[in-house]
Amino acid sequence: MSFQTHTGNRGLVLEEKLIFEQGEAGRCGVDLPKPDAVKSRLGGLERDSDVGLPGLSEPQVVRHYTRLSQKNFGIDSGFFPLGSCTMKHNPRLNEKVARMPGLADLHPMQPESTVQGALELIDSCAHWLMVLTGMPAVAMSPASGAQGELCGMMAIRAALDARGENRRRVLVPESAHGTNPATAAACGFTVDSIPATADGRVDLAAFEAKLGDDVAGIMLTNPNTCGLFERDVRKIADLVHAAGGYFYCDGANFNAIVGRVRPADLGIDAMHINLHKTFSTPHGGGGPGSGPVVFSDALAPFAPLPYVLHKDGKFHLVETASEQDGKKPFGRLKGFHGQMGMFIRALTYMKSHGADGLRQASGDAVLNANYLLARLKDKLSVAFPGYCMHEALFDDEFLKGTGVSTLDLAKAIIDEGFHPMTMYFPLVVHGALLVEPTETETKESIDQFCDAVLSLVAKAESGDAEFFKNAPYLTPRRRLDETAAARNPVLRWVPKNAE
Ligand SMILES: *Cc1c(COP(=O)(O)O)cnc(C)c1O
Repeated sequence: MSFQTHTGNRGLVLEEKLIFEQGEAGRCGVDLPKPDAVKSRLGGLERDSDVGLPGLSEPQVVRHYTRLSQKNFGIDSGFFPLGSCTMKHNPRLNEKVARMPGLADLHPMQPESTVQGALELIDSCAHWLMVLTGMPAVAMSPASGAQGELCGMMAIRAALDARGENRRRVLVPESAHGTNPATAAACGFTVDSIPATADGRVDLAAFEAKLGDDVAGIMLTNPNTCGLFERDVRKIADLVHAAGGYFYCDGANFNAIVGRVRPADLGIDAMHINLHKTFSTPHGGGGPGSGPVVFSDALAPFAPLPYVLHKDGKFHLVETASEQDGKKPFGRLKGFHGQMGMFIRALTYMKSHGADGLRQASGDAVLNANYLLARLKDKLSVAFPGYCMHEALFDDEFLKGTGVSTLDLAKAIIDEGFHPMTMYFPLVVHGALLVEPTETETKESIDQFCDAVLSLVAKAESGDAEFFKNAPYLTPRRRLDETAAARNPVLRWVPKNAE
């Protein structure tokens, strides 16, 4: 239905103006006494015009921010099957623990003797990550997966420099997440792309042909971004090591194998772990994220500062290279010691699940994805044959001849009350739809999503392309010009009278 209301509101979904466009000059939500006159110390530089703050009552302010908060669609409001992002439930126990005063009121500049518990918590979290990956060392400070990649590649660069070798070529499969080649390039490496085979995995022969004495290493995601396990991963590790390079693994998809596969057994030298994916801490607005990096013995000496040392019954935060013995840290990645709030949440998640619970979570994530794949595979075209890991990948072959694109279908999915899946990624698949239900969804919610998608596919097949071109219909804003929004973003509000 597309009739226009007088107010622009749609039922109880209200049209929200910018806060600067609301209220009236001079209106105020508080009643303060006039300040005593003070002698100016600004030498005549004080402002004589209005600051331009909006004039609003307290209820107006409360309503504005409450309504804005309700415009978010998040993992707490509905099904959010973005592939490659792992939008799983953030258990409330994690939040409760993170809000305990002894943890929430910590300050990173407190003296070490007053934060022994916090350092022990970082150490325990590090311990769990090392046990789960089988790796001997971990850097806790990286603030995201992307920064974890930077951390790993800087350690590789430092290790190569220590060997006196000027290897500068990094091999990256063409299905890789964009952060992989970007990180390699940012660290001064050149990126050499490895093609995929018809079954969505690294082409081993092409990889082998690219090895040489200028190769610094490979950046490989496993399970990969097509949602498939790289079966030749051991072979790849052996080959890159034999050629004198290192194996960086993008561990963003660790949630599919936790408790089942130890990355150390795959021959990995460095791997980031997105705590906000695998270990249920919040993403983005509720974040920030956290991307600890585990290291093999070969790279461990180059891991960044700071790190926690447990010695003589005390926890010590090693912050300078001079405090070390035998280590050659490449530097530090951020001002403080990592995302403390995320360590608390991740450790709470790990301890509340236990080793058996984590193993079940990865199993259920893979089971849910395969259930979704099984329900959709007869109507949607599957990108690669066989079972998937934690996410199911489709191409747009099934839309051929309907006049409907992946984007159109995704927009119609919004009207059905779901966040769309990841679209057009990975790039190796035409018109990709990457769907990751995660282990935290029920069969009912996955069924409801599959039913909705199947009904939309039937509609597309019936020739109603026009319907899809105009979707979404029920959102506060309809189809936006995303290119214009990205190219000419309006980032500054200009008052009406200044136009
Ligand atoms: C999410 C993701 C990243 C980047 O992690 P951020 O925490 O978003 O910086 C890298 N690689 C893959 C495969 C990912 O899914």
